[in-house]
Amino acid sequence: MRSPKKAQSTQTNPVLNAQGVKVYYGDFLALQEVDMEIPERKIIAFIGPSGCGKSTFLRCFNRMNDLIPGARVEGQINYQGKNIYDGKINPVKIRRQVGMVFQRPNPFPKSIYENIAFGPRANGYKGNMAELVEQSLRRAALWDEVKDKLKEKGTALSGGQQQRLCIARAIAMKPDVLLMDEPCSALDPISTQQVEELCRELKEQYTMIMVTHNMQQASRISDLTGFFNTETDASGKRRGKLVKFSPTEEIFNPPRTQEAKAYISGKFG
Ligand code: ADP
Repeated sequence: MRSPKKAQSTQTNPVLNAQGVKVYYGDFLALQEVDMEIPERKIIAFIGPSGCGKSTFLRCFNRMNDLIPGARVEGQINYQGKNIYDGKINPVKIRRQVGMVFQRPNPFPKSIYENIAFGPRANGYKGNMAELVEQSLRRAALWDEVKDKLKEKGTALSGGQQQRLCIARAIAMKPDVLLMDEPCSALDPISTQQVEELCRELKEQYTMIMVTHNMQQASRISDLTGFFNTETDASGKRRGKLVKFSPTEEIFNPPRTQEAKAYISGKFG
């Protein structure tokens, strides 16, 4: 068995473990072999210039790449001791446990209440739905703002509120892990701050893996950082690779590799 890249001083159990993960789009190798152990109840940031495979790798953790025509993942991702790429695994179940929040808030065109209740109901949730809705909205720090208008459309909320609604919707499925693909890039600074505060609170219960282009955000909120970059192969094609996966303070204070130094200081990106 390969030994995955483990960020030093990581003491908690791994929740996800990537071994020899490569991703192709057709014949194009977009991401070179990555090994990475994701500890539970931490915030992990993926940083690096555009096109280096951060989103591609993020999508591997809940088999979202299955939905992209031509995408092919090689290697293993173990979740709770099982390889999620094993043919017997149902990807829909994996996506319940490893939820996803996207760059642009994408609430359903339904009421705030239904945005939360829809998924659990579709999955046969038998408990008290009103309680689940309230609990999810409270955990997403949105309850006080929406409790008097649960019947109004989710799409009528502000951008920041919509993103917290999407986080509440993901939480209602009782996941272990939340994948976030630049969750704040479409938000104003105040909403960004609210989502960051929320992430810090949610860390007590969930593992969060976040792609971000915002260096300050990565250094403010993440425990561990994966720094990705591109390199050019013999035929002149650029493909992504993981350069370093370490506790965040080691990446930023001061950046140790020339590559990280150049990226973090804004020389490319
Ligand atoms: P990042 O998130 O770091 O900006 P991506 O994961 O989006 O990078 O992209 C990595 C590489 O894969 C890039 O070269 C990009 O053009 C390519 N790529 C991403 N999505 C697709 C797709 N659906 N089809 C073909 N190539 C893709």
